[in-house]
Amino acid sequence: MERRKVIIIGTGPAGLTAAIYTARADLKPLVLEGHEPGGQLTLTTEVENFPGFEHGVMGPELMANMKKQATRFSAEFKSVMCTEVDFSKRPFKVTDSSGTSYEADTVIISTGASAKWLGLPNEKELTGRGVSTCATCDGFFYRDKIVHVVGGGDTAMEDATFITKFAKKVYIVHRKDTLRASKPMQERAFKNPKIEFLWDSAVTEIQSNASGVCGITVENLKTGEKQQRETDGLFYAIGHQPNTGFLKDQITLDEHGFIKTHNGPETNIPGVFACGDVQDSYYRQAITAAGSGCQAAIKAERFLEGH
Ligand code: NDP
Repeated sequence: MERRKVIIIGTGPAGLTAAIYTARADLKPLVLEGHEPGGQLTLTTEVENFPGFEHGVMGPELMANMKKQATRFSAEFKSVMCTEVDFSKRPFKVTDSSGTSYEADTVIISTGASAKWLGLPNEKELTGRGVSTCATCDGFFYRDKIVHVVGGGDTAMEDATFITKFAKKVYIVHRKDTLRASKPMQERAFKNPKIEFLWDSAVTEIQSNASGVCGITVENLKTGEKQQRETDGLFYAIGHQPNTGFLKDQITLDEHGFIKTHNGPETNIPGVFACGDVQDSYYRQAITAAGSGCQAAIKAERFLEGH
């Protein structure tokens, strides 16, 4: 079994920053890219608040550049999922979806979080035929159409605003009468003449025909009143859940499945570090993820020096 000093699992801003730092420290990290290389930023458009880019930067471009930067320092990338880990003894064991197992002196987990679904019976089968969790990927297909976006956070505001570039009307369906989104994102959505809000409301049913989604049932949660609404698209923007399923019982998670960390990126297993959204349900920003990736890399380096 090949032995590595550092294995990094996941390639969002956290994992890629950890890759840059550990590669530069000559630790020759192996990076397992996962099912969504580049992470959530590859599903977004312009990132306006990542320091160093006066006029913003496109999410996919930022991630591609981080990967190139890590590769320049000889980080090794492998396009596989991590399927299993064994943290019961050192060296740790990490197995990927190609069936290859590695020994690792340190592991950095940066697998991020994935989009949540409402759980309506036919939503999965209608994915790609009207139901979507990625406005950046699918917004283009809704030129001159009617779209409903579910959620009240920054993602919902950003997605709705983005989709108005194509759609003739976008309704935001939110279960409360106030938004969780930041003020600038709210203002942008409020000012957009193509966006309208359905407050205190939930989507309870999706109707479809041969070509896909054609309508939804929206229930007013205060009055119980139900209305049938015509729609061509239904976008979910209701948050994310951490990608920690592959860890099984190997590490301590909180009640929502996020990895519990202390002193920055330390987990309950010495030598296993976690960074980015997989351990952060609060900040969830590219820059905080990148910062925690840097911390994880430095901690891994010091751990290796001490052992
Ligand atoms: P959030 O968790 O912030 O918001 C999720 C929204 O979905 C909430 O309004 C929540 O309602 C609603 N919701 C959750 N579950 C359900 C459900 N089952 N049914 C109906 N509604 C539901 O997630 P976001 O993805 O919006 O944002 C995540 C993080 O990423 C945030 O920190 C955000 O600031 C950041 N972000 C930043 C962007 C930027 O700066 N460009 C762009 C996008 C995100 P309720 O309010 O009632 O809880």
